[in-house]
Amino acid sequence: MTVRLHNTLTKQTGEFESQESGKVKLYTCGPTVYNYLTVGNWVAYIAWDTLVRVLQADGYAVERVMNITDVGHLVSDADDGEDKLEKGAKREGKTAWEVAEFYGSDFLQGMQRLNLLMPEHITKATEYIPQQLELVRTLKGKGFTYQIDDGIYFDTSKFPTYADFAGLDLDAQRAGARVAFNDEKRSPSDFALWKFTPAGEKRDMEWPTPADLTDDGMERPGFPGWHLECSAMAMDILGSTLDIHTGGIDHIPVHHTNEIAQSEAATGKTFSKYWLHNNHLKVDGTKISKSLGNGYTLDDLKERGFSPLDYRMFVLQSHYRSEGNFTFENLDAAKNRLRGLQAAADLKWQPVENGSGIAVASLDGHKEAISKALNDDLNTPQALTHVSSLEATLQASGIEQASVPAFQELLDWLDTVLGLALANRPDITDEQKALMRDRTAARDAKDWATSDTLRDALAGQGIVLRDGPNGTVWERA
Ligand SMILES: [Zn+2]
Repeated sequence: MTVRLHNTLTKQTGEFESQESGKVKLYTCGPTVYNYLTVGNWVAYIAWDTLVRVLQADGYAVERVMNITDVGHLVSDADDGEDKLEKGAKREGKTAWEVAEFYGSDFLQGMQRLNLLMPEHITKATEYIPQQLELVRTLKGKGFTYQIDDGIYFDTSKFPTYADFAGLDLDAQRAGARVAFNDEKRSPSDFALWKFTPAGEKRDMEWPTPADLTDDGMERPGFPGWHLECSAMAMDILGSTLDIHTGGIDHIPVHHTNEIAQSEAATGKTFSKYWLHNNHLKVDGTKISKSLGNGYTLDDLKERGFSPLDYRMFVLQSHYRSEGNFTFENLDAAKNRLRGLQAAADLKWQPVENGSGIAVASLDGHKEAISKALNDDLNTPQALTHVSSLEATLQASGIEQASVPAFQELLDWLDTVLGLALANRPDITDEQKALMRDRTAARDAKDWATSDTLRDALAGQGIVLRDGPNGTVWERA
């Protein structure tokens, strides 16, 4: 199957073509690890996990790099303000290294909890300092840089297509530059490739700026700019031209625009053929902000009785390019929807007689519809509509004995594309099956008291019985 994707670069949705047949070089902008990730942050990682899953299902070998920004991401996009890591260190009375280690490993655990596939390469910015300095060196050699008091900057006026990717109005930017604008910069859109540690300060994370990179030939301590990190790591591992680069829509006007400028200025080649961007998530209709305390973490959800997969289901219900709205009511609806799918998956343990339930051909039709939706610019809500219609059919008719192996195959496939862990759910125990049989016998004998007692005993073990058109089926509560 060929996948259609919306490319921010061309502003069009079209058939994806990789540079090398059957292979995809993918770069995902990773987190800045100075705090716990919120539900708003996780949306991106779930979206790009779906992208990888769909590409793999289409037969591509995907090589993905995801960075961990553990230095140099400043609080402000204008290259001033504090480094988020150093800020986190002050907040917690730790070193920036300790903060990065703690939240970096929390992020990786979160990825596992959400059943996200691990990228082939997870790269920490602090482990790619030589590559970043080399990129500065290349850009300096080609005349794209200049130095001011606080660092080495990229001269955006030297890169004529700078404004194109995001459709920026640079004249308006210049006119609108406020007094706070660092007036040593030649233009407001110029950005720091490498910052110097301010005189008299000592940062937790700093490296010598090689003498050949400074105007006066003096070595001094410094640290990389956030944009430089992504370009250096992406190109070091994947080469000059990526197939796909992903990130959030907030990255378009500054971070990704700058990545493109510095990478293409250095190599003279297209940095990435496709750019995919996920939209924001609001909470209760408003932006996530510290002051509102609505930046819920996976642990916050857990405290309220929701699993990471409930949240994954919630995210998949929206298209990655539309703005989502998180409320606990919406999350509860997603949780119930996932429970419904789990119950339908568990019908494989309780098949009906051949000839009376769903047959293999019908399963194939559902799979095709789900696959088609996913390959249409990762249309997960549409795919889930088809999954739910399969669920409704299963609940109404049951799965017939002869179709169970095909149903299992479908569940395995669903797990590879949606990651909702439906395929490997266990059967109930022999003891529980015996209780169920005894309860049916009591019910047939109209011994309601015994029937109720047995039903309650199973409920106490988390097994709920439902009497329906296909007899009694169990579900996990
Ligand atoms: Zn990035």
